[in-house]
Amino acid sequence: MSLVAENLEKVEKYIKEACDNAGRQRDEVTLVAVSKTKPAEMIMEAYNQGIRDFGENYVQELTDKIERLPKDIRWHMIGHLQRNKVKYIIGKVVLIHGVDSVSLAREISKQAVKHEVTADILLEVNVAKEDSKFGFLSEDLPEAAAEIAELPNINIKGIMCSAPNVDNPEKNRQYFAKMCKICVDIKTKISDNSSMDAMDVISMGMTGDYRVAIEEGSTMVRVGTGIFGERDYSNKK
Ligand SMILES: *Cc1c(COP(=O)(O)O)cnc(C)c1O
Repeated sequence: MSLVAENLEKVEKYIKEACDNAGRQRDEVTLVAVSKTKPAEMIMEAYNQGIRDFGENYVQELTDKIERLPKDIRWHMIGHLQRNKVKYIIGKVVLIHGVDSVSLAREISKQAVKHEVTADILLEVNVAKEDSKFGFLSEDLPEAAAEIAELPNINIKGIMCSAPNVDNPEKNRQYFAKMCKICVDIKTKISDNSSMDAMDVISMGMTGDYRVAIEEGSTMVRVGTGIFGERDYSNKK
């Protein structure tokens, strides 16, 4: 059994346990395998275990992998997206996780119209108000969401966050709980908008804290290291 297959077995077991702890069904949580910096061969090992959702951070790397790998893979753009790169990924990914400004959403909308597709997005929340993180502050979110929801060919599917880097994942439980509150809050505040009525994705939880995230209501976890091992950035800028 390959290392990736072994790791996936563990991750799957932990996801199931966390679902059980919270009285949730396993199918309420999507596992996105974060494959940034990892070669196509490793992605295929996960693919052969049945994984179809993969997350990437860098546009060039993502588009290269889309070309080379099976067409039934659902690609997630999870990294910080620059406006001038939107055109390269529009129509090629199932979900853009890190929408952190109205101007980025405008560009996504514009490119989606041009390519005659609808772009599904998540709004990124800087849930712990960290200077180093992208994302909307929770207090700014309802207004931004209302504005973005008006844009053509864009669908707000939910929210995402990257919780603080902590030694003990329990420290992030409060932030995961807050994300769920934020999601309910936006839904009630802007309930009359049709492009938001299925706003039920909460993308949160990474290798260090996905179990806690699931216990607090995550519907999508993004696990990289826990599946593919440590990343080597030495050939990246
Ligand atoms: C890299 C990355 C992940 C995966 O992180 P791991 O700790 O390796 O699981 C998840 N989400 C985002 C936004 C990332 O950039």
